[in-house]
Amino acid sequence: MASKTIKIAYLYEDLMNTYGDSGDVKIIRFLLKKQGYSTQIDNISLGDKFDAFDYDFVFFGGGQDFEQTVIAKDLPRHKETLTKYINDGKPMLGVCGGYQLVGTYYKTNSGVTIKGLDILPFHTVFKADKRMIGDTRYMSEWGEVRAFENHSGQTYFDDPDKLHPLGTMIEGYGNNPQDHVEGLRYRNFIGTYSHGPILKNLNVANAIVKMILEWHDERMKKAAADKAV
Ligand code: GLN
Repeated sequence: MASKTIKIAYLYEDLMNTYGDSGDVKIIRFLLKKQGYSTQIDNISLGDKFDAFDYDFVFFGGGQDFEQTVIAKDLPRHKETLTKYINDGKPMLGVCGGYQLVGTYYKTNSGVTIKGLDILPFHTVFKADKRMIGDTRYMSEWGEVRAFENHSGQTYFDDPDKLHPLGTMIEGYGNNPQDHVEGLRYRNFIGTYSHGPILKNLNVANAIVKMILEWHDERMKKAAADKAV
């Protein structure tokens, strides 16, 4: 019988939780429950072992610069598994600080450069002129999204042929003040500056739930085949 438990890895839940993004995980849990699935949510924190392929969904929420410097020291341990997971097209959502750390680096306000996972070719820099804070609205492939942003980092794609924005701005800044785009979609990795939480937008939440259930099916079939050998 197919497993009805969806496993979610919440990266550094205890440290990257300043902006209420745990609401995203709660919405996913609620939508899955409506479809008869239960969820197991594991906080993967400093020093914890982690294999992304043991999970149906990886979530990485926003955090302040200080917490980002702390976890950046632990993060390289997970580079290999997350690189493969993202490149294989498995579902992951990175919000703000969590989004930034999937790229090459984030140069902060104090001039410190926080090394990211360097999985996708984009970088983030603090620019003294403004903190981007306020309501956002943008058009995504799933329709309009309304959210709230609160960040100093400005994100720029280094390989625009490989990376596609999540949406086109209607209101607010998104990735940076110049490009008028928000976030990133690469295979089934979604990076975004949207808090609110973003998944109160059910068009986006349902699209992610679909990705999760497809990967869950594949993961369960593989586990059953491995067992049969
Ligand atoms: N500390 C980062 C910045 O200010 C991320 C903020 C966040 O996650 N909201 O850009």
